[in-house]
Amino acid sequence: MTPRTRPDLASIPAYVPGRSFPGAVKLASNETTAGPLPSVRDAILDAASTVNRYPDNGAAELIAALSARLGVPAEHIAVGCGSVSLCQELVQIACDAGDEVVYSWRSFEAYPVVTAVAGATAVPVPNTPEHGHDLKAMLAAVTQRTRLIFVCNPNNPTGSLLGKSELEEFLDAVPADVIVALDEAYFEYVRIAPGETLADGLDLARGRSNVVVLRTFSKAYGLAGLRVGYAVADPDLIVALGKVHTPFAVNSVAQKAAIASLAAAGELLARTDGVVAERSRVQNTLLDAGYVVPPSGANFLWLPLGGRSAPFSEAAAEAGVVLRNFTGEGCRVTIGDPHENDLFLSFATSRGREIA
Ligand code: PMP
Repeated sequence: MTPRTRPDLASIPAYVPGRSFPGAVKLASNETTAGPLPSVRDAILDAASTVNRYPDNGAAELIAALSARLGVPAEHIAVGCGSVSLCQELVQIACDAGDEVVYSWRSFEAYPVVTAVAGATAVPVPNTPEHGHDLKAMLAAVTQRTRLIFVCNPNNPTGSLLGKSELEEFLDAVPADVIVALDEAYFEYVRIAPGETLADGLDLARGRSNVVVLRTFSKAYGLAGLRVGYAVADPDLIVALGKVHTPFAVNSVAQKAAIASLAAAGELLARTDGVVAERSRVQNTLLDAGYVVPPSGANFLWLPLGGRSAPFSEAAAEAGVVLRNFTGEGCRVTIGDPHENDLFLSFATSRGREIA
């Protein structure tokens, strides 16, 4: 006899992370190319000497540091083993079996997975032709069974960015008992034009007890390998998240590294200016070469190549550059350091151009 598992697992896709191979330039997972700062590395080494002990399950020191940095009281903050685990926890606190989770699609691949694993029903709403969220259609998709809405801003993988007033209007129209998760994993890479207003989830969550802001140390803070993310929300939701939290999920090395990263926030966030400058350079070069490249607020660009995305990413891998392929839809390319970007561009403007 074989062990029994839930019959519905067979139809749930596993999360498939970006892959790479030795010697390749990996532009597939929206990571930071640079390794940790010396101060962060020191904190990691120091923390290594106490790993015989369990971490602080409440992550009090990290939460205090986040509270000071964000100007948000500590009881509004929860940390998780990457913000992806907070996505999972949100479905767990919001949904009974059969309840509905609305999100735009295509968006972050984990949303359908965490929804299905919790026994909830996914309600994907197609993106606009411009590759952004269709907020009107998302609102129209809300039913009596909707318990949670994910709004990924900037959107992964298309990079699209919502403006403050459209997001405010949306939040005001969503029933107050439906949780809205503003997933801001790429918030630090957002730049707005003069005269525009930044849609900062922390401002939008103020006074809205159903809004949860998700951010991470994996991207701009360069700690993807240590797995730390955080949620900012109403204290009642933070208490609820604590109930479904895997005990000790944020390890002690990760906590110390995150605290050291917050202490070095100025230097780390200054690095995002370099990524943003490279994002413009790569985008402009691709546009000049005839590609369609929607504007991006994140550390990646979206190439809506449709049926050519798989051969394009395969040829890029042969040229030593690993992209993220979404077969039939497009390729996502992370903005790396200038050398890595040059390698990608030299492929994209030669062999890649023939395929695209
Ligand atoms: N949200 C979005 C939109 C993401 O793209 C990612 C990472 N790919 C995450 C959340 C999760 O990041 P982490 O778990 O590393 O914090």
